[in-house]
Amino acid sequence: MAESSSKQDFFVGVDLGGTKILAGIFDNSLKNLATAKLSTKSQRGVEAVIERVARCVQDAVDEADLSLKQIVGVGIGAPGSVDFDSGTVIFAPNLEGWKDVPLKKHLEKLLGVPVFVENDCNIAALGVYAAELKSKPRHMVGIFVGTGIGGGIVIDGHLYSGFGHTAGEIGHMVLEVNGPKCGCGNKGCFEALASRTAIFQRIKAGVKDGQKTLLTDMLGDDLDDLRSGDLRKAIRRGDKFVDKVIEEAAEYIGIATANLINILRLTANLINILNPEVVVLGGGVMEALQDEMMSVIIETAKDYAMAGAMKGVEIVASKLGDDAGITGGAVLARREAKKA
Ligand SMILES: [Zn+2]
Repeated sequence: MAESSSKQDFFVGVDLGGTKILAGIFDNSLKNLATAKLSTKSQRGVEAVIERVARCVQDAVDEADLSLKQIVGVGIGAPGSVDFDSGTVIFAPNLEGWKDVPLKKHLEKLLGVPVFVENDCNIAALGVYAAELKSKPRHMVGIFVGTGIGGGIVIDGHLYSGFGHTAGEIGHMVLEVNGPKCGCGNKGCFEALASRTAIFQRIKAGVKDGQKTLLTDMLGDDLDDLRSGDLRKAIRRGDKFVDKVIEEAAEYIGIATANLINILRLTANLINILNPEVVVLGGGVMEALQDEMMSVIIETAKDYAMAGAMKGVEIVASKLGDDAGITGGAVLARREAKKA
């Protein structure tokens, strides 16, 4: 055996979120060897957050009994628009003060390892595509439903990063012209109808209007510590109100899925009509409420998709959950390290 074949490469994937930083160590076959987690504390400023990312990476490396010298590359997903080539975070609305932050440059200085920066939803889509679907389908759309809604698109085996590597536009498709106001200033965006934020707002507004729900017995009238998992518990105990809110959100996810399938079909036709496509649903809301939402999403998507557009399309829930981001980070690092 050649000596090089026994040498194992290791990669780090990082998910930099508004509340927490997650880092994972992966080997060449994308097996997760260790993870570390740290709160983001973005109020402490940009520099402090970057130092915390570096610390989190080091913790994960240590947890895997490795040293930074054995790490080939670090791939990191940031919640905002990213300039991939320079590794700069152009804007991240959930991180205080993050405007034109040269994340790659700073992290490489702290870690001494090549760093690659992508938008968090793009990177999660990459993780699902490469690690969960083993890069088998030609085309894939990932929809991630959490605090907000974002997506990533793989066309013909390649991540389509979109203009400016934002790709968060999926969350701002308008699904309801006179719908609720969105953080972006528009009305009736996908995100304003089906994100965790939107679902929680609808539930809290209902309670204010005197709506009866088991959630107030579980958590008190102000529902301060409400989590997605509480919604699942309430539905399983027969809470009609929560069930209805979740069904409505699932319908909107289904409509958005149908829109994306129509668009993907249009694009895919130009490449190869026979290849199957997959729509993967991930994110915290899907992880907690998959059993409650998937059938409604699939039925609604069938209702709204163009005739024939659903042929050969699979709609599935991701099994990676919270790990999609760190897995995608490792995929990115592996891909870029190969190029170097
Ligand atoms: Zn919007």
